[in-house]
Amino acid sequence: MRIILFIPLYVFCFIFIYGQVDYITTIHPFYEIMKNIVGDRGLVKEILPAGASPHTYELKASDVKNVEYKTTLIMGSPKLDTWAYKFHYQNRIELLSLIPEENLLYLDAKFGKNKGKRMGTDPHFWTDPLTVKILLPKLNEKLCQIDKEGCDIYNKNHQLFSNQLDSLYQKIKEKLSGIENKSVLLAHSFFQYYLKRFHIDLVGIIEIVEGTEPTPRELKEIIETVKERKVRAIFTQIQHSDRAARIVAESTGIKLYELDPLGGVLDRKTYQELLLYNTQIILEALR
Ligand SMILES: [Zn+2]
Repeated sequence: MRIILFIPLYVFCFIFIYGQVDYITTIHPFYEIMKNIVGDRGLVKEILPAGASPHTYELKASDVKNVEYKTTLIMGSPKLDTWAYKFHYQNRIELLSLIPEENLLYLDAKFGKNKGKRMGTDPHFWTDPLTVKILLPKLNEKLCQIDKEGCDIYNKNHQLFSNQLDSLYQKIKEKLSGIENKSVLLAHSFFQYYLKRFHIDLVGIIEIVEGTEPTPRELKEIIETVKERKVRAIFTQIQHSDRAARIVAESTGIKLYELDPLGGVLDRKTYQELLLYNTQIILEALR
């Protein structure tokens, strides 16, 4: 009797485990995007622990061990989370490469010896809900190639999430309406896509190449520019050191505000929560 009862359960578990599609994502926002699209169709995991920076993360042996060969890796771009290449995976999707050229933003140096030069593509696309929406059809296409049987689910979830991104965009736009002086400075490019989308004037980026602090001469130039352009706020990233930004703030009296492009903690778990959390800080800074 007992055997008869247990066999169907065992068989069921077996089918469930082997029919499952595994996705591993590098940073929390990618995890949230994938959760929205994949739903119950597969298992979505994330690698980067909350509080860590994707640019400097040191992969642990246990991270690699936890990923199976049949996994699909979801990463940003070689400029963001290159360490993810070390995994064993069956498929890899680089999200930045799914965005059409005309929707990409670039790292345009406005200070120092690189002034006027383009220092590459800005990889932080996920801070703008509409850029995320733009890449969804291509992402969907890729997921359907990897998991044909799941295609209907991906299509349905993709439509749903697209609509949610539209409403989120509207909500943020309304919150930010009526602000007059919108000139800001970024410690690095981490929020450029958001600022551009919501017409906030980015006067410049302190560290155009991440991890490269400005020289004293460049700092002087930045300080002069922010005074001239009446910059209202300087935004730093919670996961990064902000030494240069602090110097600019101290020399100009402009306030520093800490934004969080990654989330995964406290009240910043879902994609919507993350963007609304940052919108609140931007609102406080510019009001
Ligand atoms: Zn970054």
